[in-house]
Amino acid sequence: MSDNNRHAALEMNADEFKKVGHQLIDQIADFIDGIDKRPVTYGEKPTQIRAALGTGALPDKGMSASNLLEKASDLMMNHSLFNGHPKFWGYITASAAPIGALGDLLTASVNANCGAFILSPMATEIEKQTVRWLAELIGYQSDCGGILVSGGNMANFTGFLAGRTAKSPKTLKTKGVASLDKKMCIYGSKGTHTWIDKAAHLFGHGTDSIRWIETNSNHQMDNQALENAIKADLEDGHQPFLVVGTAGDVSMGVVDDLKGIGEICKKHDLWFHVDGAYGVPAACLSDQQKTFEGLNEADSIALDPHKWLYAPLEAGCTLVKNPQHLVDAYSSNPEYYNFGKTEEPETNFFEFGLQNSRGFRALKVWLALQQAGRKAYEEMIGDDVRLARLMFDLADENDELEAVTHSLSITTFRYIPSDLDLMGEEREKYLNQLNEKLVDRLQFGGEVFLSNAVVDGRYCMRACITNFRTEEKDCEDLIEISVREGRVLHQSD
Ligand SMILES: *Cc1c(COP(=O)(O)O)cnc(C)c1O
Repeated sequence: MSDNNRHAALEMNADEFKKVGHQLIDQIADFIDGIDKRPVTYGEKPTQIRAALGTGALPDKGMSASNLLEKASDLMMNHSLFNGHPKFWGYITASAAPIGALGDLLTASVNANCGAFILSPMATEIEKQTVRWLAELIGYQSDCGGILVSGGNMANFTGFLAGRTAKSPKTLKTKGVASLDKKMCIYGSKGTHTWIDKAAHLFGHGTDSIRWIETNSNHQMDNQALENAIKADLEDGHQPFLVVGTAGDVSMGVVDDLKGIGEICKKHDLWFHVDGAYGVPAACLSDQQKTFEGLNEADSIALDPHKWLYAPLEAGCTLVKNPQHLVDAYSSNPEYYNFGKTEEPETNFFEFGLQNSRGFRALKVWLALQQAGRKAYEEMIGDDVRLARLMFDLADENDELEAVTHSLSITTFRYIPSDLDLMGEEREKYLNQLNEKLVDRLQFGGEVFLSNAVVDGRYCMRACITNFRTEEKDCEDLIEISVREGRVLHQSD
């Protein structure tokens, strides 16, 4: 905001920045304050969205920042889905902590490049502290290595490649997977998130190298089946190298028997990766200690602050027990990088992950962790679990709903009309179709937002509460709305 002579079109002087900035902050404050008065979504079709946006070509001439931000606010605030709405429980996206929005403004203003210490001295140390605090929160070794990434997929990829590097011949980095004389095999339960397909593809193993292990009656990976699969691969001359334990699966919030998986990994010298993108923050709860037993044995963990730690998108994080494994996988020192020459050792995050230039994702997480503190985080996460349980109980008590599962903060249930006279397969088929239509109808209706899960062949409505704005009344409303809309659909059939 200088008063230099160049007058570049993108420069703003202090007065203009303050004027436009205050105007935007006022709008955001009102937006957040009134978010519960809006529909969760306007349910508009792509053509309607394009009509609101306009289809003009790139303008030749610029326009005032004030008008432009006014326009952008209108587009975003009146044509979006609001995952910060108290009745948003679809997929796994959190209500975003407002302090995170302010943090992102500060982040973009200083614009630290967190690839190297010299380019981001304070940001680098804040990121390291954030990584340490995340590990502390979930009870993992706080001297682990770690890095903030864009989200759960990237966090899992980052851990995967660290594990692959640790468990493969040293020559793999130079010679590539074509040089391997054994097929390297990957193990995860049938409930493992689709990132595993992308990882197997991306890192050259191919999706055929994934062993999808059966689940037991609790929907956890069947550890006996896991061990059998590992043994069978060894007998066939393959090299098992990595097992994914899921800590909170996407459909139902199920946490695998991590302790058991850890023991199997130790026995066969395999890398133990935990995908805790959704669920692992719940390891901070005293009443969930048993559920997460064995987490400490993990060689790497993926977690997602933009899910259950309420950070605005994007923020994922990889933790690796032995930081050297990150360096082994990601560090190379080209001549044009003149870093690390001061007397003290310094952390250059480009050596810890796949990115080179990196934004400062840690600040919004670091701010939220401190604004709330550990106790309040435990309370918010615990409340989400409690409210999901309440939804389950309310569905259970209702004659027209069947409560199907509850684990962590995910509840699944389905609508069953009281006058349904079908039996057996026909009944299940009808219920699946009816509940699928019901999810669609609810998603476009704007009153509530949830998604679906298929549990043992049953198509269910699924609510995942990673939302610090949800209250008991919202859960009661969900029950009433699902029954009301279920009846409408059933009667029109
Ligand atoms: C959400 C999720 C992912 C993917 O995370 P993104 O942040 O969407 O990339 C991976 N695994 C699990 C268990 C998840 O819940």
